[in-house]
Amino acid sequence: MPRIADEEIERIKTDVPLLEWVRSEGLEPRKRGKDWVVLCPFHEEDTPSCVITPSKNLFNCFGCGAGGTIIDWVMRRRGISFPHAIEVLRTGSVGPVSDAMHGQQHIEPIMPMDVSARTALKEVIDYYHQCLHQTPEVLAYLEKRGIGSADLIETFKLGYCNRTLGYRLPSKHTKAGKTIRTTLRDVGVYRQTMFEHFGGCLVVPIFDADGGVVEAYGRKIRPDHKIGKKEMKHGYLPGAHRGVWNARAFEASDEIILCEALIDAMTFWVHGFRNVSAIYGTSGFSADLKAAFERGQIKRVFIAFDRDEAGDRAAEKYTPWFAERGIEVRRVQFPKGMDANGYALKVQPAPKALDHLLRSSEVLSAPEAVDQADDTGVAAQDGPLLHLSGDREKLPRSDVMVVQEDNQLYLTIMDRRYRVRGLEKNLSYGALKVNLRPASVSMP
Ligand code: ZN
Repeated sequence: MPRIADEEIERIKTDVPLLEWVRSEGLEPRKRGKDWVVLCPFHEEDTPSCVITPSKNLFNCFGCGAGGTIIDWVMRRRGISFPHAIEVLRTGSVGPVSDAMHGQQHIEPIMPMDVSARTALKEVIDYYHQCLHQTPEVLAYLEKRGIGSADLIETFKLGYCNRTLGYRLPSKHTKAGKTIRTTLRDVGVYRQTMFEHFGGCLVVPIFDADGGVVEAYGRKIRPDHKIGKKEMKHGYLPGAHRGVWNARAFEASDEIILCEALIDAMTFWVHGFRNVSAIYGTSGFSADLKAAFERGQIKRVFIAFDRDEAGDRAAEKYTPWFAERGIEVRRVQFPKGMDANGYALKVQPAPKALDHLLRSSEVLSAPEAVDQADDTGVAAQDGPLLHLSGDREKLPRSDVMVVQEDNQLYLTIMDRRYRVRGLEKNLSYGALKVNLRPASVSMP
């Protein structure tokens, strides 16, 4: 069952007016005192005994005992489950209700039955993206991992699978519903068991050059979400890995930071290092990724795999492939046992710390034309490393220094320092309300 935030349930109970809802179903409530009465739709009667109390947004039938909130009303009227009713209310899917509709779908499907697999997958990713915006706990998770950036979420269309997709498709009892579910099972969105593959996961899609979704990564953010006995912590769509995350980096820069996982790559990205991508785990240096290195004529790769045995071994294993193509290979030296995400969370300010690690990375292989002096030459350069040969326009790197202390952020812009408070109270990206004030003027 999808988990719905308590705040959202409360919001629906109090904010969606029951009286209006009842009217929209074609019933005709009449005023009686402060309340309203209506012919009860839950039992046979000639005189209305179902009372609606707008001040409390509740109903109660003195004839059959039915009663409760607007959620109870919708569940009972339409013969649907609690999460299905929440979706109906969330989407404002009002309209006349009949007995024939019991247990059927009550929300406009997000796609028709005859879509191609490619379109179906894109629609699902769009839907997951929409769900992420409705789920404060995913935003909180991203914050906790230090990658809660609206820019990241929108640019890469991050999503969340809250297991409500089924309510947004034609009923599974209809031909249309069966057809579309077969398509979605074939692309891996549904498993053979017909559970959503990425249930409870943050979902990161990978696009091809035409904006089609060719792969997706899921990271479980709620350990208590279980499907079956064996449960993955993270994983991809079934089948061969296709596509390259952040493919435009390979066109915009001839230096690439290559991570072991997408969370790490996104960590570099949010801290301003935009020429970053990731392999599919230490054994996942895919054909598409290799092609991107060749097509982009990449000159230098910073291997930023985890600093553990598997990461070191993988870095060693792939070095010859780069060397054969004249690509300089550098190994980013995180402290033992650490990955990029863990490091950025621990060492603040992260942009500076990551920058330092890139500069002091160890050369595993250098093209012959590059002599020894050039190794130290990199570290001695002024300015952000990534602009040595990158394109500043295409790869903007933040010039704002951000330091986090407790719940406050300190921003240094030029020679001024600002303090930002109240960020933790903002749980969605719809609105932003913070307290900003100059904290100090730093001395040169
Ligand atoms: Zn009744």
